[in-house]
Amino acid sequence: MLRKSHQAGDFVKSPAVVKASANLILTRLQVTDEIDLQIDSQTILARSTAKVSDSIAKTIIIGSGPAGWSAAIYAARANLQPILYEGTYKPEMIPLGQLAFTTEVENFAGFPAGNIRAFVESAVAKDRHYNLPPAPAGHEKDGQPHYAVQGTELMELMKQQALNFGTEVISDDIESVDFSGDVHTLKPASGEAVQAHTVIIATGARANYLGLPSEEEYKNKGVSACAVCDGALPIYRSKPLAVVGGGDSAVEEATYLANLANADTIYMVVRRDQMRASKVMQERALSHPNISVLWNSTVGEVRGDGKLVNGLRIDSTVDDSSRDLEVGGMFVAIGHTPNTSFLNNAVEMNEKGYIQWAKPFRTNTSVEGVYAAGDVADDYYRQAITSAGTGCMAALDAERYLAERE
Ligand SMILES: Cc1cc2nc3c(=O)[nH]c(=O)nc-3n(C[C@H](O)[C@H](O)[C@H](O)COP(=O)(O)OP(=O)(O)OC[C@H]3O[C@@H](n4cnc5c(N)ncnc54)[C@H](O)[C@@H]3O)c2cc1C
Repeated sequence: MLRKSHQAGDFVKSPAVVKASANLILTRLQVTDEIDLQIDSQTILARSTAKVSDSIAKTIIIGSGPAGWSAAIYAARANLQPILYEGTYKPEMIPLGQLAFTTEVENFAGFPAGNIRAFVESAVAKDRHYNLPPAPAGHEKDGQPHYAVQGTELMELMKQQALNFGTEVISDDIESVDFSGDVHTLKPASGEAVQAHTVIIATGARANYLGLPSEEEYKNKGVSACAVCDGALPIYRSKPLAVVGGGDSAVEEATYLANLANADTIYMVVRRDQMRASKVMQERALSHPNISVLWNSTVGEVRGDGKLVNGLRIDSTVDDSSRDLEVGGMFVAIGHTPNTSFLNNAVEMNEKGYIQWAKPFRTNTSVEGVYAAGDVADDYYRQAITSAGTGCMAALDAERYLAERE
């Protein structure tokens, strides 16, 4: 049973197009059972007891971040009739991916600051406007809203673009997979198993946080898990900042912040009296004039004025002492967890649990016809634009694989 499905027709107005879209749904699902179609000028809702497994899909995409939508756009335009499982709402991961957790995105090419909202509202189907965050207050130029695209806006645009080309979107998680046969089988959390000739895994990797309630309260208000993404935003600019963690990526984040123009002191909060980072990376941090390391320390509380972070309570890990640290932001760099557990090692992973690409400059996994895109296979760049890039590559790889077999 489909729990909820969006089609290209979500955003159609003319009755002829509505009818065509309804037919598309019928054909795609090979519906034989009871159908309840509700059609109005904006929305098509198909509720059916039919099984999607009646047919073998050319391509199923798992995940709805930049990698998933970009793969869907390419696959749909190549007539692979992609079906995309967008996941469900959980505290650590939501449909539309990690960017839906953040505010302004200043580094996605093609989206300079401007009156973004007017464009987003004109492009995204009205019935999803409820999902758009309020435009940031006070960001105006010449009396018009003027800000960088927000994470959720950017993701809604990607979703709309995929829908416009006919991607079928299913709001469910894939719970398990069987890649042992020629045709691949996926088991959604609700409903029957589905089969596909090619599968694109784009399930991302979630950032690990400390788990403090005060950290949760100040996410996007001075707490972030990505310095390269957020460090240059105005709320962090020219302020002392803390980076939590002692591994290579913590050093990278601290160095990135310390090298920004007008950087103030960057404090690294390290649990032990030494770092996990490699010798070279440690040297880089310790020799940087803007970086100061707080050894044997952990963050006990994030403090702020209700709007923005203004300090941290730093607790000692060796005695009961605590101290206050004045900072304008905290970057958590204690690793990421790739969303791969549902795969149960059906494809080869690296030692950190990320999917291993099997060929250089290709998105092939160790299983024929199964591709991986975005952060789920990339623990190095972890950016929206690189994820979108490998999403495109995965769709092209799938298309060529299918073409060779025809
Ligand atoms: C706070 C924050 C701010 C950031 N800011 C920026 C920025 O400004 N610029 C930038 O370039 N990058 C930024 N990033 C990084 C960027 O968000 C990621 O690199 C990018 O989202 C990765 O895209 P992805 O498609 O690989 O995966 P994700 O965006 O992680 O999406 C994965 C999707 O898969 C779904 N999923 C997972 N498991 C399943 C399953 N079993 N079945 C179905 N669906 C599933 C999830 O629900 C999710 O929707 C930021 C990250 C964070 C955490």
